[in-house]
Amino acid sequence: MWGRARSSGDPPTKNTSDVQLTHKIALCPTPEQADYFARACGTARRVWNWALDEWNKQRAAGQKPNAMALKKQFNAIKYARFPWLKDIHRDAHARPFEHLGRAWSRFFADIKAGQRAHAPQFKKKGRCVDSFYVANDKFRVEARTIRLPKIGDVSMREALRLPGKILGATVSRTADRWFVAIQVEVPDTQFHRARTGDGIVGVDLGIKAAVTLSTGETVDAPKPLKAALRRLRIRGRRVSRKLEVAKAESKTIHGPHQPGRRHLPATKNRLKSSGALARLHARIAQTRADFTHKLTTRLCRENQAVVIEDLHVKGMLTNDKLARAISDVGFGMLRTQLEYKAVRYGTRLIIADRWFPSSKLCSTCGWKHEALTLSDRQWQCAQCSTHHDRDHNAALNLKRLATETALPVASPTGNGGAMAGMVPAVAGKVTPVSDECGQQDASGQEESCVHVCAPF
Ligand SMILES: [Zn+2]
Repeated sequence: MWGRARSSGDPPTKNTSDVQLTHKIALCPTPEQADYFARACGTARRVWNWALDEWNKQRAAGQKPNAMALKKQFNAIKYARFPWLKDIHRDAHARPFEHLGRAWSRFFADIKAGQRAHAPQFKKKGRCVDSFYVANDKFRVEARTIRLPKIGDVSMREALRLPGKILGATVSRTADRWFVAIQVEVPDTQFHRARTGDGIVGVDLGIKAAVTLSTGETVDAPKPLKAALRRLRIRGRRVSRKLEVAKAESKTIHGPHQPGRRHLPATKNRLKSSGALARLHARIAQTRADFTHKLTTRLCRENQAVVIEDLHVKGMLTNDKLARAISDVGFGMLRTQLEYKAVRYGTRLIIADRWFPSSKLCSTCGWKHEALTLSDRQWQCAQCSTHHDRDHNAALNLKRLATETALPVASPTGNGGAMAGMVPAVAGKVTPVSDECGQQDASGQEESCVHVCAPF
Protein backbone atom coordinates (compact mmCIF):
# COMPACT_ATOMS: atom_id res chain seq x y z
CA MET A 1 0.00 0.00 0.00
CA TRP A 2 2.99 2.22 0.34
CA GLY A 3 3.64 2.01 -3.36
CA ARG A 4 1.71 4.79 -4.88
CA ALA A 5 -1.01 7.14 -3.97
CA ARG A 6 -4.07 6.66 -6.06
CA SER A 7 -5.87 9.41 -7.77
CA SER A 8 -8.15 11.00 -5.27
CA GLY A 9 -10.82 12.67 -7.30
CA ASP A 10 -12.35 15.68 -5.70
CA PRO A 11 -16.05 15.95 -6.20
CA PRO A 12 -16.55 17.48 -9.61
CA THR A 13 -17.12 21.20 -9.73
CA LYS A 14 -20.51 22.27 -10.94
CA ASN A 15 -21.58 24.64 -13.71
CA THR A 16 -18.63 23.91 -15.98
CA SER A 17 -18.31 21.29 -18.62
CA ASP A 18 -14.75 20.59 -17.53
CA VAL A 19 -14.13 18.88 -14.25
CA GLN A 20 -11.35 19.36 -11.76
CA LEU A 21 -9.67 16.21 -10.57
CA THR A 22 -6.62 15.70 -8.41
CA HIS A 23 -4.03 13.02 -8.81
CA LYS A 24 -1.86 12.46 -5.76
CA ILE A 25 1.47 10.87 -6.54
CA ALA A 26 4.24 9.77 -4.16
CA LEU A 27 7.58 11.50 -4.64
CA CYS A 28 11.08 10.12 -4.24
CA PRO A 29 13.09 13.21 -3.28
CA THR A 30 16.81 13.19 -2.54
CA PRO A 31 17.71 14.14 1.05
CA GLU A 32 18.46 17.69 -0.14
CA GLN A 33 15.11 17.94 -1.89
CA ALA A 34 13.29 16.57 1.15
CA ASP A 35 15.07 19.18 3.23
CA TYR A 36 13.84 21.88 0.87
CA PHE A 37 10.29 20.51 1.09
CA ALA A 38 10.41 20.66 4.88
CA ARG A 39 11.64 24.25 4.80
CA ALA A 40 9.04 25.26 2.23
CA CYS A 41 6.30 23.75 4.43
CA GLY A 42 7.74 25.60 7.41
CA THR A 43 7.60 28.81 5.41
CA ALA A 44 3.98 28.26 4.44
CA ARG A 45 3.13 27.60 8.07
CA ARG A 46 5.00 30.65 9.37
CA VAL A 47 3.36 32.91 6.80
CA TRP A 48 -0.08 31.53 7.63
CA ASN A 49 0.52 32.20 11.31
CA TRP A 50 1.81 35.72 10.60
CA ALA A 51 -1.22 36.47 8.43
CA LEU A 52 -3.69 35.03 10.93
CA ASP A 53 -2.11 36.96 13.79
CA GLU A 54 -2.29 40.18 11.75
CA TRP A 55 -5.87 39.40 10.72
CA ASN A 56 -6.90 38.87 14.35
CA LYS A 57 -5.22 42.12 15.41
CA GLN A 58 -6.92 44.13 12.69
CA ARG A 59 -10.25 42.52 13.47
CA ALA A 60 -9.86 43.32 17.16
CA ALA A 61 -9.06 46.94 16.22
CA GLY A 62 -12.36 47.13 14.37
CA GLN A 63 -10.86 47.05 10.89
CA LYS A 64 -11.97 44.85 8.03
CA PRO A 65 -8.94 42.78 7.05
CA ASN A 66 -8.73 41.05 3.70
CA ALA A 67 -6.30 38.56 2.24
CA MET A 68 -5.02 40.70 -0.63
CA ALA A 69 -4.28 43.72 1.56
CA LEU A 70 -2.48 41.50 4.06
CA LYS A 71 -0.39 39.99 1.29
CA LYS A 72 0.64 43.48 0.14
CA GLN A 73 1.53 44.40 3.68
CA PHE A 74 3.57 41.22 4.00
CA ASN A 75 5.37 41.69 0.69
CA ALA A 76 6.57 45.13 1.82
CA ILE A 77 8.33 43.77 4.88
CA LYS A 78 8.98 40.10 4.12
CA TYR A 79 12.65 40.13 3.08
CA ALA A 80 13.64 42.55 5.81
CA ARG A 81 11.90 40.55 8.53
CA PHE A 82 12.31 37.04 7.16
CA PRO A 83 15.55 37.00 5.13
CA TRP A 84 15.43 33.21 4.81
CA LEU A 85 12.35 33.56 2.61
CA LYS A 86 14.68 34.20 -0.32
CA ASP A 87 15.68 30.52 -0.36
CA ILE A 88 12.12 29.35 -0.83
CA HIS A 89 10.06 29.79 -3.97
CA ARG A 90 7.53 32.60 -3.60
CA ASP A 91 4.45 30.43 -4.28
CA ALA A 92 5.00 28.73 -0.93
CA HIS A 93 4.59 32.00 0.95
CA ALA A 94 2.11 33.70 -1.37
CA ARG A 95 -0.54 31.02 -1.25
CA PRO A 96 -1.34 30.97 2.48
CA PHE A 97 -3.03 34.38 2.13
CA GLU A 98 -5.59 32.99 -0.28
CA HIS A 99 -6.13 29.97 1.93
CA LEU A 100 -6.67 32.22 4.93
CA GLY A 101 -9.10 34.41 3.02
CA ARG A 102 -11.08 31.35 2.02
CA ALA A 103 -11.02 29.94 5.55
CA TRP A 104 -12.54 33.16 6.87
CA SER A 105 -15.20 33.27 4.16
CA ARG A 106 -16.15 29.71 5.02
CA PHE A 107 -16.30 30.66 8.68
CA PHE A 108 -18.65 33.59 8.04
CA ALA A 109 -20.75 31.59 5.59
CA ASP A 110 -21.21 28.85 8.20
CA ILE A 111 -22.27 31.39 10.81
CA LYS A 112 -24.74 32.90 8.36
CA ALA A 113 -26.14 29.46 7.58
CA GLY A 114 -26.52 28.78 11.29
CA GLN A 115 -24.07 25.87 11.20
CA ARG A 116 -21.19 25.17 13.53
CA ALA A 117 -18.37 27.43 12.41
CA HIS A 118 -14.65 27.02 13.02
CA ALA A 119 -12.44 30.10 12.93
CA PRO A 120 -9.01 29.57 11.32
CA GLN A 121 -6.44 28.29 13.80
CA PHE A 122 -2.72 28.79 14.16
CA LYS A 123 -0.70 25.96 12.70
CA LYS A 124 1.63 24.18 15.04
CA LYS A 125 4.78 22.46 13.90
CA GLY A 126 4.37 18.70 14.00
CA ARG A 127 0.64 19.02 14.61
CA CYS A 128 -0.55 20.39 11.29
CA VAL A 129 -0.50 18.97 7.79
CA ASP A 130 2.75 20.05 6.18
CA SER A 131 2.16 21.33 2.67
CA PHE A 132 3.02 24.07 0.22
CA TYR A 133 1.69 25.16 -3.12
CA VAL A 134 3.26 25.50 -6.56
CA ALA A 135 1.47 27.43 -9.32
CA ASN A 136 0.93 25.74 -12.69
CA ASP A 137 3.41 27.93 -14.59
CA LYS A 138 6.20 27.12 -12.14
CA PHE A 139 6.47 23.37 -12.64
CA ARG A 140 6.51 20.86 -15.44
CA VAL A 141 5.51 17.23 -15.51
CA GLU A 142 7.17 14.82 -17.88
CA ALA A 143 6.59 11.09 -17.57
CA ARG A 144 7.66 10.20 -14.04
CA THR A 145 9.48 13.43 -13.31
CA ILE A 146 8.26 16.72 -11.98
CA ARG A 147 10.45 19.80 -12.32
CA LEU A 148 9.90 22.07 -9.36
CA PRO A 149 11.27 25.59 -8.85
CA LYS A 150 14.52 25.95 -6.83
CA ILE A 151 15.22 22.22 -6.66
CA GLY A 152 14.78 20.88 -10.18
CA ASP A 153 13.75 17.36 -11.12
CA VAL A 154 12.08 15.16 -8.53
CA SER A 155 11.11 11.65 -9.50
CA MET A 156 7.54 10.48 -9.02
CA ARG A 157 6.36 6.95 -8.35
CA GLU A 158 4.06 7.03 -11.35
CA ALA A 159 3.22 9.28 -14.26
CA LEU A 160 0.31 11.71 -14.16
CA ARG A 161 -2.70 9.73 -15.33
CA LEU A 162 -5.12 12.58 -15.92
CA PRO A 163 -5.23 14.32 -19.28
CA GLY A 164 -6.07 18.01 -19.42
CA LYS A 165 -4.93 21.41 -18.29
CA ILE A 166 -2.78 21.44 -15.17
CA LEU A 167 -4.03 23.99 -12.65
CA GLY A 168 -1.51 23.72 -9.85
CA ALA A 169 0.13 21.37 -7.41
CA THR A 170 0.45 20.92 -3.68
CA VAL A 171 3.41 19.13 -2.13
CA SER A 172 2.57 17.55 1.21
CA ARG A 173 3.97 15.15 3.77
CA THR A 174 2.31 12.12 5.38
CA ALA A 175 4.46 10.55 8.11
CA ASP A 176 7.89 10.56 6.46
CA ARG A 177 6.74 10.41 2.85
CA TRP A 178 6.26 13.22 0.37
CA PHE A 179 3.44 13.49 -2.14
CA VAL A 180 2.46 15.85 -4.87
CA ALA A 181 -1.23 16.40 -5.61
CA ILE A 182 -1.62 17.74 -9.13
CA GLN A 183 -4.89 19.46 -9.93
CA VAL A 184 -6.02 18.95 -13.50
CA GLU A 185 -8.97 20.32 -15.40
CA VAL A 186 -10.19 17.23 -17.20
CA PRO A 187 -12.34 17.69 -20.31
CA ASP A 188 -15.87 16.44 -19.88
CA THR A 189 -15.39 13.75 -22.51
CA GLN A 190 -12.39 12.35 -20.65
CA PHE A 191 -14.09 12.57 -17.30
CA HIS A 192 -16.84 10.10 -18.05
CA ARG A 193 -16.00 6.44 -17.95
CA ALA A 194 -17.61 3.54 -19.72
CA ARG A 195 -19.44 1.01 -17.57
CA THR A 196 -18.78 -2.67 -18.04
CA GLY A 197 -22.18 -3.80 -16.84
CA ASP A 198 -25.77 -2.72 -16.31
CA GLY A 199 -26.58 -4.49 -13.10
CA ILE A 200 -28.59 -3.14 -10.23
CA VAL A 201 -27.20 -3.76 -6.82
CA GLY A 202 -28.27 -3.18 -3.25
CA VAL A 203 -25.41 -2.69 -0.82
CA ASP A 204 -25.81 -3.49 2.84
CA LEU A 205 -23.04 -2.17 5.03
CA GLY A 206 -22.26 -4.28 8.03
CA ILE A 207 -19.65 -5.13 10.52
CA LYS A 208 -19.29 -8.89 10.21
CA ALA A 209 -18.82 -8.61 6.47
CA ALA A 210 -18.08 -5.03 5.51
CA VAL A 211 -20.37 -5.19 2.54
CA THR A 212 -23.10 -7.61 1.50
CA LEU A 213 -24.39 -7.26 -2.04
CA SER A 214 -27.85 -8.21 -3.22
CA THR A 215 -26.15 -10.75 -5.50
CA GLY A 216 -25.31 -12.66 -2.34
CA GLU A 217 -21.65 -11.79 -2.48
CA THR A 218 -19.94 -10.60 0.68
CA VAL A 219 -16.85 -8.46 0.70
CA ASP A 220 -14.65 -8.38 3.75
CA ALA A 221 -12.79 -5.25 4.66
CA PRO A 222 -9.09 -5.61 5.35
CA LYS A 223 -9.75 -4.27 8.85
CA PRO A 224 -6.28 -2.79 9.00
CA LEU A 225 -6.89 -1.03 12.27
CA LYS A 226 -7.80 -4.20 14.14
CA ALA A 227 -4.68 -5.96 12.94
CA ALA A 228 -2.47 -3.00 13.71
CA LEU A 229 -4.08 -2.18 17.02
CA ARG A 230 -1.62 -4.09 19.14
CA ARG A 231 1.30 -2.55 17.30
CA LEU A 232 -0.35 0.84 17.68
CA ARG A 233 -0.52 0.42 21.44
CA ILE A 234 3.12 -0.61 21.66
CA ARG A 235 4.31 2.29 19.56
CA GLY A 236 2.06 4.74 21.37
CA ARG A 237 3.47 3.57 24.69
CA ARG A 238 7.03 4.05 23.45
CA VAL A 239 6.27 7.63 22.47
CA SER A 240 4.57 8.52 25.73
CA ARG A 241 7.34 6.95 27.79
CA LYS A 242 9.92 9.16 26.10
CA LEU A 243 7.62 12.14 26.53
CA GLU A 244 7.39 11.49 30.27
CA VAL A 245 11.18 11.30 30.50
CA ALA A 246 11.54 14.57 28.60
CA LYS A 247 8.99 16.24 30.88
CA ALA A 248 10.79 15.02 34.00
CA GLU A 249 14.14 16.22 32.68
CA SER A 250 12.76 19.58 31.77
CA LYS A 251 11.36 19.88 35.29
CA THR A 252 14.72 19.22 36.96
CA ILE A 253 16.42 21.78 34.72
CA HIS A 254 13.82 24.54 34.53
CA GLY A 255 11.63 23.90 37.55
CA PRO A 256 7.85 23.43 37.37
CA HIS A 257 6.27 24.06 33.99
CA GLN A 258 5.05 27.58 33.38
CA PRO A 259 2.46 28.40 30.78
CA GLY A 260 3.88 30.09 27.75
CA ARG A 261 7.25 28.36 27.91
CA ARG A 262 8.47 26.74 24.70
CA HIS A 263 7.64 23.09 24.30
CA LEU A 264 9.95 20.29 25.28
CA PRO A 265 13.18 19.81 23.38
CA ALA A 266 12.78 17.02 20.84
CA THR A 267 15.35 14.30 21.33
CA LYS A 268 16.46 11.98 18.55
CA ASN A 269 14.85 8.94 20.19
CA ARG A 270 11.55 10.69 20.78
CA LEU A 271 11.43 11.80 17.14
CA LYS A 272 12.27 8.29 16.03
CA SER A 273 9.48 6.67 18.00
CA SER A 274 6.87 9.25 17.08
CA GLY A 275 7.91 8.80 13.45
CA ALA A 276 7.27 5.07 13.73
CA LEU A 277 3.83 5.73 15.18
CA ALA A 278 2.99 8.19 12.42
CA ARG A 279 4.08 5.69 9.76
CA LEU A 280 1.79 3.05 11.20
CA HIS A 281 -1.16 5.46 11.24
CA ALA A 282 -0.45 6.41 7.63
CA ARG A 283 -0.29 2.77 6.55
CA ILE A 284 -3.62 2.02 8.19
CA ALA A 285 -5.22 4.97 6.43
CA GLN A 286 -3.81 3.88 3.09
CA THR A 287 -4.95 0.27 3.41
CA ARG A 288 -8.42 1.54 4.21
CA ALA A 289 -8.46 3.97 1.28
CA ASP A 290 -7.22 1.26 -1.07
CA PHE A 291 -10.09 -1.00 -0.10
CA THR A 292 -12.85 1.60 -0.42
CA HIS A 293 -11.51 2.92 -3.71
CA LYS A 294 -11.40 -0.51 -5.32
CA LEU A 295 -14.84 -1.43 -4.02
CA THR A 296 -16.57 1.80 -5.01
CA THR A 297 -15.01 1.80 -8.47
CA ARG A 298 -16.16 -1.77 -8.99
CA LEU A 299 -19.70 -1.04 -7.84
CA CYS A 300 -20.06 2.00 -10.11
CA ARG A 301 -18.36 0.34 -13.07
CA GLU A 302 -20.50 -2.79 -13.08
CA ASN A 303 -23.90 -1.34 -12.25
CA GLN A 304 -26.37 1.14 -13.64
CA ALA A 305 -27.84 1.67 -10.20
CA VAL A 306 -26.38 1.29 -6.73
CA VAL A 307 -28.57 1.50 -3.65
CA ILE A 308 -27.04 2.13 -0.25
CA GLU A 309 -28.39 2.97 3.16
CA ASP A 310 -28.11 6.44 4.56
CA LEU A 311 -26.12 5.35 7.55
CA HIS A 312 -25.81 7.95 10.21
CA VAL A 313 -22.08 7.49 10.58
CA LYS A 314 -21.49 10.23 13.12
CA GLY A 315 -24.31 8.97 15.31
CA MET A 316 -23.10 5.40 15.05
CA LEU A 317 -19.59 6.43 16.01
CA THR A 318 -20.90 7.44 19.41
CA ASN A 319 -21.78 3.79 20.01
CA ASP A 320 -18.59 2.44 21.55
CA LYS A 321 -19.04 -1.10 20.37
CA LEU A 322 -19.69 -0.13 16.78
CA ALA A 323 -17.33 2.82 16.57
CA ARG A 324 -14.10 1.01 15.96
CA ALA A 325 -15.55 -1.51 13.53
CA ILE A 326 -17.22 1.23 11.53
CA SER A 327 -14.31 3.60 11.36
CA ASP A 328 -12.13 0.64 10.47
CA VAL A 329 -14.13 -0.09 7.36
CA GLY A 330 -14.38 3.56 6.39
CA PHE A 331 -18.13 3.87 5.77
CA GLY A 332 -18.03 7.63 5.48
CA MET A 333 -15.34 7.45 2.83
CA LEU A 334 -17.30 4.75 1.00
CA ARG A 335 -20.32 7.00 0.61
CA THR A 336 -18.31 10.05 -0.53
CA GLN A 337 -16.44 8.01 -3.11
CA LEU A 338 -19.63 6.42 -4.42
CA GLU A 339 -21.14 9.87 -4.83
CA TYR A 340 -18.49 11.21 -7.17
CA LYS A 341 -17.73 7.96 -8.95
CA ALA A 342 -21.41 7.49 -9.75
CA VAL A 343 -21.20 10.75 -11.72
CA ARG A 344 -18.12 9.51 -13.58
CA TYR A 345 -19.69 6.23 -14.62
CA GLY A 346 -23.20 7.57 -15.16
CA THR A 347 -24.41 5.25 -12.44
CA ARG A 348 -27.50 6.11 -10.50
CA LEU A 349 -26.83 6.27 -6.80
CA ILE A 350 -29.87 5.85 -4.63
CA ILE A 351 -29.63 6.51 -0.94
CA ALA A 352 -32.32 4.86 1.11
CA ASP A 353 -33.80 6.86 3.91
CA ARG A 354 -32.16 6.37 7.27
CA TRP A 355 -35.37 4.86 8.64
CA PHE A 356 -36.04 2.50 5.76
CA PRO A 357 -36.30 -0.83 7.60
CA SER A 358 -34.09 -2.74 5.16
CA SER A 359 -33.23 -5.45 7.68
CA LYS A 360 -36.73 -5.92 9.07
CA LEU A 361 -38.66 -6.41 5.83
CA CYS A 362 -38.99 -9.81 4.26
CA SER A 363 -37.57 -9.44 0.76
CA THR A 364 -39.92 -12.14 -0.52
CA CYS A 365 -43.31 -11.09 0.81
CA GLY A 366 -42.83 -7.74 2.54
CA TRP A 367 -43.72 -8.87 6.04
CA LYS A 368 -42.07 -6.74 8.69
CA HIS A 369 -40.23 -8.47 11.49
CA GLU A 370 -40.71 -5.87 14.22
CA ALA A 371 -38.87 -7.83 16.90
CA LEU A 372 -35.65 -8.25 14.90
CA THR A 373 -32.64 -7.34 17.00
CA LEU A 374 -29.10 -6.45 15.97
CA SER A 375 -27.81 -9.84 17.08
CA ASP A 376 -30.24 -11.82 14.89
CA ARG A 377 -28.04 -12.86 11.99
CA GLN A 378 -30.64 -15.26 10.55
CA TRP A 379 -34.40 -15.21 10.74
CA GLN A 380 -37.45 -16.83 9.27
CA CYS A 381 -40.43 -14.97 7.85
CA ALA A 382 -43.57 -15.71 9.82
CA GLN A 383 -45.74 -15.19 6.79
CA CYS A 384 -43.99 -16.94 3.88
CA SER A 385 -41.50 -19.02 5.90
CA THR A 386 -38.52 -17.85 3.87
CA HIS A 387 -35.25 -18.28 5.73
CA HIS A 388 -33.22 -15.05 5.60
CA ASP A 389 -29.62 -14.15 6.07
CA ARG A 390 -29.95 -10.77 7.72
CA ASP A 391 -27.46 -8.85 5.56
CA HIS A 392 -28.39 -10.45 2.26
CA ASN A 393 -32.08 -9.82 2.91
CA ALA A 394 -31.32 -6.15 3.66
CA ALA A 395 -29.32 -5.85 0.43
CA LEU A 396 -32.23 -7.34 -1.54
CA ASN A 397 -34.65 -4.84 0.01
CA LEU A 398 -32.32 -2.00 -0.90
CA LYS A 399 -32.02 -3.26 -4.46
CA ARG A 400 -35.78 -3.20 -4.74
CA LEU A 401 -35.73 0.57 -4.25
CA ALA A 402 -34.09 0.85 -7.66
CA THR A 403 -35.97 -1.78 -9.58
CA GLU A 404 -39.43 -0.23 -9.54
CA THR A 405 -40.91 -3.47 -8.40
CA ALA A 406 -43.81 -3.04 -6.08
CA LEU A 407 -43.13 -4.43 -2.69
CA PRO A 408 -45.84 -6.97 -1.97
CA VAL A 409 -46.88 -5.55 1.34
CA ALA A 410 -48.51 -7.82 3.85
CA SER A 411 -52.12 -7.25 4.74
CA PRO A 412 -52.66 -5.03 7.77
CA THR A 413 -54.33 -7.87 9.63
CA GLY A 414 -51.42 -10.22 9.08
CA ASN A 415 -48.84 -7.76 10.19
CA GLY A 416 -50.39 -5.49 12.76
CA GLY A 417 -50.80 -2.78 10.13
CA ALA A 418 -47.12 -2.02 9.95
CA MET A 419 -47.11 -1.43 6.22
CA ALA A 420 -50.58 -0.58 5.13
CA GLY A 421 -51.56 -0.91 1.52
CA MET A 422 -49.75 -1.89 -1.63
CA VAL A 423 -46.96 0.23 -2.91
CA PRO A 424 -47.59 0.82 -6.59
CA ALA A 425 -44.89 0.36 -9.17
CA VAL A 426 -44.22 3.53 -11.07
CA ALA A 427 -42.59 3.10 -14.43
CA GLY A 428 -39.56 5.22 -15.20
CA LYS A 429 -38.68 6.24 -11.71
CA VAL A 430 -37.90 4.75 -8.39
CA THR A 431 -40.88 3.85 -6.31
CA PRO A 432 -40.91 5.66 -3.04
CA VAL A 433 -41.78 3.20 -0.35
CA SER A 434 -43.75 5.30 2.05
CA ASP A 435 -45.59 4.39 5.14
CA GLU A 436 -48.66 6.57 5.24
CA CYS A 437 -49.57 5.59 8.76
CA GLY A 438 -46.37 6.85 10.32
CA GLN A 439 -46.19 3.91 12.66
CA GLN A 440 -44.21 4.18 15.82
CA ASP A 441 -41.72 1.44 16.41
CA ALA A 442 -40.55 0.21 19.79
CA SER A 443 -38.16 3.12 20.27
CA GLY A 444 -40.91 5.62 19.58
CA GLN A 445 -39.13 6.72 16.44
CA GLU A 446 -41.55 7.54 13.72
CA GLU A 447 -40.83 5.47 10.68
CA SER A 448 -41.11 7.36 7.48
CA CYS A 449 -39.83 5.10 4.81
CA VAL A 450 -39.45 7.70 2.10
CA HIS A 451 -36.06 7.43 0.51
CA VAL A 452 -34.36 10.18 -1.31
CA CYS A 453 -32.91 9.81 -4.75
CA ALA A 454 -29.55 11.50 -4.98
CA PRO A 455 -29.14 14.03 -7.77
CA PHE A 456 -27.04 12.70 -10.61
ZN1 LIG B 1 -41.91 -13.41 3.90
